[in-house]
Amino acid sequence: MMIDEALKERIEKLTLDFVGVYTSTGTARERRAEGFYRSWFGSMGYFKKRAELAGLYEIPGDHLNRSIPWCLLKGAGSATVVLLHHYDVVDTDDYKSLQDLATEPGELMSALREGRVELDEESAHDLKSGKWIFGRGTADMKGGACIQMALLERYAEIAESGALQGNILLIGLPDEENISAGGRAAPRLLKRLKDEHGLHYELALNAEPNDRVTGTSRPEIFVGSIGKIMPLFYARGKLSHAGMVYDGLNPIKIMSKIVEKLDVIADLIDSADGVVSPAPTFLYLKDAKNIYDVSLPISASGYMNVMFLKKSVGEIMGIVTEKCAEAFEEAIADVQRSFDSYVKAGGGEPRALPWKANVKLYSELHAEAKRDSGEEFERSLAAATLDIGEKVASGKMSLVEASHAVIEHTLLHVRDASPVVVIALVPPYYPVVANSMLSQSAEHANRACDEIIARAKSEFGDDYVKYYLVGMSDLSYFMKNPATGDDEYIKNNMLLWGDIYDIPFDELRDISMPVLNIGPWGKDIHEHTERVFREDLVNRTPYLTAFAIEKILF
Ligand SMILES: [Zn+2]
Repeated sequence: MMIDEALKERIEKLTLDFVGVYTSTGTARERRAEGFYRSWFGSMGYFKKRAELAGLYEIPGDHLNRSIPWCLLKGAGSATVVLLHHYDVVDTDDYKSLQDLATEPGELMSALREGRVELDEESAHDLKSGKWIFGRGTADMKGGACIQMALLERYAEIAESGALQGNILLIGLPDEENISAGGRAAPRLLKRLKDEHGLHYELALNAEPNDRVTGTSRPEIFVGSIGKIMPLFYARGKLSHAGMVYDGLNPIKIMSKIVEKLDVIADLIDSADGVVSPAPTFLYLKDAKNIYDVSLPISASGYMNVMFLKKSVGEIMGIVTEKCAEAFEEAIADVQRSFDSYVKAGGGEPRALPWKANVKLYSELHAEAKRDSGEEFERSLAAATLDIGEKVASGKMSLVEASHAVIEHTLLHVRDASPVVVIALVPPYYPVVANSMLSQSAEHANRACDEIIARAKSEFGDDYVKYYLVGMSDLSYFMKNPATGDDEYIKNNMLLWGDIYDIPFDELRDISMPVLNIGPWGKDIHEHTERVFREDLVNRTPYLTAFAIEKILF
């Protein structure tokens, strides 16, 4: 497709309009996007005549009643390219005094030029160059969304004339910056459309921005998306007055040993296809105490972010469990040594404290509660889950608080009241996806990817590098890795699974397709200096996106 002046103007205009619709993630504001898509569908003759080929797919059970806007261009044959993007953005708090202008790029850039907030050197340079568009969502990712939308308008004209080869499905997803409610619901919509229209999905094409490879001017094309799980650790100790410290066991002691063992642990750095995952780190650590008193807290907990590429979830959790057991042993040994000194100082005879390391997965705790309390436990857990679900839906409880509530409720039904560490998985879960996991079915996409890279070089002198999206993305929900048994593990150990949070694995397996991400150059995403490179936005990225679509379909 020719990227002519009219198309360039169209992309820029659409981007500025869409950025102006502030759709902060995880809030009711996301639904503002619906009107934008509705009027966009209505602006195209193709969909005026074929209203059944565009719509808003309501996300089942979504507490904010969000939907997935979608539209389908039907041409000859079953081959289908899916253009996907997310329409939520992170909030604008970072803009401080310019918050009101965050979604108005023109006014924002004027205010920045007037020096109304301090800019770092690179941002100031980019602002002065006039080559960048600043504003919340310009790069992440309404710019990419509008490239897809403007191209789709052109393909709609081709489809209208009956000359379109293959099919193009465009979908807009909410909640990507939060827990991907849109991405996780998408397989259900795609399955329905596949069955209704006899589609064969050849490629999922996302348009998240890319930054240059560190220290180079090389852009990135993404051929995969990193996986992520969040193990949660709940340590229950034994309560005592701080003056009788050896009568109790402080769960803070146990948790801090766990953090020391697991935070940035090198054993969990993972790599595949030349991509290396960052080491895991704790995002949360807290005891259960709400007010001051002189007792040891009864429990403490924390969770960590683990990103992975080749390791299975079971493998990761095996390492995590082993380190927890070591941590527990060491915590007890520390206390014992201290107790020995204390006793000796008073002239007494050292003796062994009663503590035993006890680490279990939530699935094991659940089985124990069932054994000890039977049906009564299952009934009360179901009731508690219902109540917890309502609190999460109304925003009164976070998913982490909900996870704690489930563990605590289960512990109440276990007879053994001794100190224990329970390990569970909490939402969200992003499966790792990569075209290298698919054998033959990705050949077409892999070839297209190589040709895109060659074309970018010959046309623009851009030297693209293949990489993975390492900040998580919705692409996780468009391909199913055929090799792992992670599904079962997740189902058995993820708290709230099926009640409040789920991924439709069966539909995902059915619609699974190769993935690619070609997006414009973006800088400082999620910061007040977020900006997109205009030349990529209006020319280079749309050119390469159209090239990819046509390589697959034409
Ligand atoms: Zn994004």
